[in-house]
Order: sequence, then C-alpha cells, then structure tokens
Amino acid sequence: MKRTLLLTLIIVTFLLNITNTYAAGEYFSGVWGAISSSKIAVNGLALNMEREPISINDRLVVPVATVFSQFGAKVEWNELRNRLVITKGNDNIIMYIGYINCYVNGEIKRMESPAVLYNGTVMVPVRFVAESFNIPVGWSQKTSTVYLGEMPEEVKEEIPASGGGYSGVKGRIVVIDAGHGGTQSGAVYGGVKEKDLNLSIAKKLNEKLKELGIVTYMTRTSDSTLSLYARSDLANSKNADLLISVHNNAGASSVTGSMSLYYPSASKTKGKLTSYEFARIVQKNLVSTLGTRDLGIIERPGLAVLRTANMPAVIAEIGYMSNNSELNKLKTSAYQDKAAEALKKAIVESLEKMYK
Ligand SMILES: [Zn+2]
Repeated sequence: MKRTLLLTLIIVTFLLNITNTYAAGEYFSGVWGAISSSKIAVNGLALNMEREPISINDRLVVPVATVFSQFGAKVEWNELRNRLVITKGNDNIIMYIGYINCYVNGEIKRMESPAVLYNGTVMVPVRFVAESFNIPVGWSQKTSTVYLGEMPEEVKEEIPASGGGYSGVKGRIVVIDAGHGGTQSGAVYGGVKEKDLNLSIAKKLNEKLKELGIVTYMTRTSDSTLSLYARSDLANSKNADLLISVHNNAGASSVTGSMSLYYPSASKTKGKLTSYEFARIVQKNLVSTLGTRDLGIIERPGLAVLRTANMPAVIAEIGYMSNNSELNKLKTSAYQDKAAEALKKAIVESLEKMYK
C-alpha cells in the first residue's frame, strides 16, 4: 500500500513536470520506486533524515539538503524553473526533477536515477552526488548503510579500487549478437520477424553500454546473414569479457516468459564469473525489469554460439513471439528499450562480479 502510494506520488510529480520546458535532455520514463530501509552514515555516525531514502532503478535517492549540508554543500531549489543547484566549494551540480541528465561543472552527465520531489523534499541519487563532489562513498551490505566521508575499515575493503559504481566497467569488452539476420528470419509471427526484433534490442543495448564507457562490438548492425561461428569468432578475436546474444522465442500460443541459455562448462569462466552465473544474472534482470514469467536458466551444450565462445556467453530469449499479448509488447520501442535496459543492468552486474 505504502509502495503504491509512493509510486503514485512520484508519477504525479513527474507528470507535473512533463510540461516543464526549462529542463534540457531526456525525460526519465523508466520510473519505479520503493521506500528503502537503507541508512546513511556521515563520518561514521548515523544521520537522521526527514524522509526515508527511496530506491529508484536500484539507486538510493536521499534528501539532498540534509545529507549534503553535512559536507558544507549549499542547495538552491527553484521550483518555478524545476531546477536544483548543489554547490560545494568550486564544484556545482545542476539537476532537473525527473530528468536523468544533469550538469556537473557545466558538463552534461547521465544519472541512473533522476532527482525527485517527494512530499515537498528534494531528493537526489546519493552516490552520484557524492562522487561528483569527491566525497568518499561506501556501501555495507551487512548493515544496509551508505557511508559518506570517513567509514569503517571493513566498508573500505568492500569498495573496489576503481571507486565502485559504474566506473569499474569502463573499458571492458562486450560483444553483442543480434540473433539470426539476412536470409535467416528466426521466428515470424503477425508479420514480425525475430531477426528485426533482435537487432532493434541489440542496437539499444549497444547505445546503453557505450554510454557507460564499455567497449562494444556488434556481430551485425544491419539485416545481414551471419554464420553461427562468425558470432563467437568475433567475441574470441576481440578477447571479449562477455558475449550476449539477443533472441526471441516461439512455441505454443499460450506460453509467455523469458529464459536464458548457457553452455555448462567451467571453460567459459572469466575472472570470477562463470557462464552459469552470467545466465543467472541475465535471467534475474530480465524477469525483474520486464515483469515476464521466469522460465529459468537452461543448459544448452549443443548451441554452437555458446559452445565455441571462450568467455561467459548467454543467449537471452526475451519473450515469446507466438503469444499475442507478448508479441504486442515486443513490437513497441518502449518495451524493446526496457529489455535493453535489463540486459545492460545484467552486463554491468556481471562485469563487476567478474573483477571484484
Ligand atoms: Zn532466435
């Protein structure tokens, strides 16, 4: 109930701002939020906040003034212009409620969650702001606490050398394979060809990964015919960290859901990540982001693409084209984008796990 109310509040806040013409850039539409029981500690001491943090898109969003005034930051909120300016020393961040693009010292940056207005409190993604101001930030799973500034030794140990967050995935190599193509259409239902759906999702995924600084290669960027070996060959020749192959399924008209396929062998392990673990993470993110039925992770020793790849490789079967209502969703750009978002999250999580 609480969650439903909160969602409504956030959506109302966002709808109100849709007509706002001051905010530049992309409006954040993938909103889902929930009150989080996570805590904030400043220099090792628990901080009392007037609002509980909210988790949006897996990012913790906290009351900006209460948290960052602890570090001498000043907050200016211009409701008319929907503009939030946070200043600390010589650094400043400009955000617009509901928008994922912001400006850090005049440079445009993309956040994983936007700033939101919740019950009159302006709230911002805590890690993004802390890192922009060079405030040390650490997370303890054990105590569900975000530590800002000084932190206990055991938390310091949990922070990867790269500083955590998404920065650790920069420069990693991912090969994206859009299944089928050219003379091979894959499944065809209601005039929709699987090869086109796969390519569309793959291209969206490619854009998202590039934004994070991940080095990507696509096995095809147009409607061309490729052999199965050409796909894994590309991944092997680039010494890719991961190979993700995008497909859609077909079967009985009543069946819906997502599944992830992998080759069961330790030889496809990279760093600490096995193919099985990669498949598990892909599957988890598909199901949670798309709300699809969980058809599980499936061993497929016979599939050439998976068998001949040297790294963790997964075929993600996003949905069933043979089911009318799932096909109608799959056809839309918004749903394809959501699928790409799920795969992006899975790839980031997998890369972080690989090198931890
Ligand atoms: Zn397929």
